[in-house]
Amino acid sequence: INSSSALNFENRYASLSKNFFTPLDPTPLKNPYLITRNVDLLQNLGLAPELLDQQEILEVFSGNRVHQSSRPIATVYSGHQFGIWAGQLGDGRAILLGELKLQHSQESLEIQLKGAGVTPYSRMGDGRAVLRSSIREYLCSEAMAALGIPSSRALCLIGSDQYTMREMPEKTAVVTRAATSFIRFGNFEHWYYNQASSELKELADFVIFNYYPELHERDNPYLGLLEEVIKRTATLIAHWQCVGFMHGVLNTDNMSILGITLDYGPFGFMDGFNPSHICNHSDTQGRYAYHMQPEIGHWNCHALAQAMLPLIGDIEQTQSALSNYITDFKTAYHANMLKKIGLYEETEDDQTLYESYLEIMANGLTDFTLAFRRLSQISKHNEDQDQQLRDLFIDRSGLDAWLRQYRQRLQRETLSDEERRIRMNLINPKFVLRNHLAQQAIQKAENKDYTELHTLSQVLKRPFDEQSEFEAYAQLPPDWASEVSVSCSS
Ligand code: AMP
Ligand code: MG
Ligand code: MG
Repeated sequence: INSSSALNFENRYASLSKNFFTPLDPTPLKNPYLITRNVDLLQNLGLAPELLDQQEILEVFSGNRVHQSSRPIATVYSGHQFGIWAGQLGDGRAILLGELKLQHSQESLEIQLKGAGVTPYSRMGDGRAVLRSSIREYLCSEAMAALGIPSSRALCLIGSDQYTMREMPEKTAVVTRAATSFIRFGNFEHWYYNQASSELKELADFVIFNYYPELHERDNPYLGLLEEVIKRTATLIAHWQCVGFMHGVLNTDNMSILGITLDYGPFGFMDGFNPSHICNHSDTQGRYAYHMQPEIGHWNCHALAQAMLPLIGDIEQTQSALSNYITDFKTAYHANMLKKIGLYEETEDDQTLYESYLEIMANGLTDFTLAFRRLSQISKHNEDQDQQLRDLFIDRSGLDAWLRQYRQRLQRETLSDEERRIRMNLINPKFVLRNHLAQQAIQKAENKDYTELHTLSQVLKRPFDEQSEFEAYAQLPPDWASEVSVSCSS
């Protein structure tokens, strides 16, 4: 293989005006080595997975070498952090190498190195990412994609013997991540707050031209863009709620203009169900707690709408677009929850039925993932299959009362128990990236043992399959899991 010609970066973002970005090379990483690669995604990009065994190519993805076709840049954006205007931020440790074409579509993916050294937007940061958080991002972005939830992806993970200072010195790594675009709400806010109307328009036109071409036909494409982003954001957050995913830092600079999950940091999947659970230890007020996410999504769309108002030019239409968020969220959430509890012939009280199930779960901190997965075992005819589900609950009589109602409701369904079980298992994952699972992979990787990382990433690629040989990955978390602490930017 001629390794160098296998890559061909383009960079549409770099065709924007100069003040959108700074051209700069990544900072080399000391003795980079490959930790893991995403075979499927490499193949989707038309790249032979073996390419990464070649030093030249490895060095492109660690930031040690700039490929001849690449024009690396760091982009500028701003944003609201924890509800407060933070001013200019930007790619403080991410460098965009360019775009690679997907094999079987007209689309490309932007390829970013996260942790590739300081940029003009690093502020006080060191531009690096530690192995621990890089493993978490690698695993979670792929786990989300496998759950069918829009997300940035991870192409490979490269380690180094270089250390980076956090609470203590930690191993440094670079995640090569990929997304159709990494443009954020904060990119729009940046130009709005700088009163740069021509850049604001340039950005919106760029986004519409490249990612929402169908909006050209609208009378007001900018209004169309806002509506579409609102819809995608509401739907995305509904998805998150339904699998118990908590992002942890829902600042507007972490909100994707394409409605994908972006910037994995102190995220978490719900273990025992506590609606007000806060996964980010830096979030002392619980602004980004699980039950707050839908409302925060709305708040963030509001910030985007504010920034786009000069383009849209009509405040009433903008407000009405914003009010759609609530309906969009409820519609997506409701449809998803009905499937989660296996109801396909809708009746009036179905919402009460899943809400009361969530309530019983919350009362006893019942495991979120298992409570839905095991619900598929229930028979509509009798109580014979109840036991495994009952084992998860503290309030057994509460659950039994609920199950009586549920069984009655199931009588109205035409699907057989078996058919319903199969369908429910396609929406209620058995395997999610629980913190303690990530932690076990991280601990071994710190000692250069990547076996656990490999196994876990394989298991998470098929979250809905039984994979009974990997039962241990579907178990309740051990007691120490609640002590795993994750916070902002590591
Ligand atoms: P986050 O909330 O983690 O997505 O990051 C918020 C902002 O801080 C972004 O502009 C990041 O690029 C920047 N940032 C986070 N960590 C670092 C770091 N170690 N070095 C430089 N910039 C960073
Ligand atoms: Mg230019
Ligand atoms: Mg960020």
